[in-house]
Amino acid sequence: MTDIRELLLSRIRDVADYPEPGVMFKDITPLLADPAAFTALTDALAEIAENTGATKVVGLEARGFILGAPVAVRAGLGFIPVRKAGKLPGATLRQAYDLEYGSAEIEVHAEDLAAGDRVLIVDDVLATGGTAEAAIQLIRRGGAEVSSLAVLMELGFLGGRARLEPTLDGAPLEALLQV
Ligand code: AMP
Repeated sequence: MTDIRELLLSRIRDVADYPEPGVMFKDITPLLADPAAFTALTDALAEIAENTGATKVVGLEARGFILGAPVAVRAGLGFIPVRKAGKLPGATLRQAYDLEYGSAEIEVHAEDLAAGDRVLIVDDVLATGGTAEAAIQLIRRGGAEVSSLAVLMELGFLGGRARLEPTLDGAPLEALLQV
């Protein structure tokens, strides 16, 4: 494992049975509070943006905002928030997706996406892949392409990568850490 991966992993706190029994929550707040780790993460994600020819960065609410916004600034790109439904004031595109119990919806301002955009999607954790799958669909419906999906941590045992493969359609899934 490279030094940066060791540094990032050491700053993620495992919280058992949060927010419900059986879930091991990956708490990134210690990483955010450490300027060396936060900067290293931002640089690594900005490199992915540059290597995949991204023209915009999308962050997924809420921790994807915290990670994605500095990546956009570092890479010299615009930032687009993908929010839970009902939070954006303008005309939106909306995408529903299934949760373990029930369903959820995410939205983006339609005017933020255009044909020719190549979007890097950023989030903290990839679990089942449902959120990322809906975000990819939303971005494509906005006429843009997905250049790459980048996450700090992939929970491999939940099968998100396999689920996303057909949807990603060749766009790379970059996980800095895999557990
Ligand atoms: P999923 O749609 O199942 O891939 O879930 C991904 C979203 O839920 C991401 O936005 C994560 O922030 C959050 N998430 C899911 N599982 C965890 C976990 N074990 N620890 C922290 N965040 C999680």
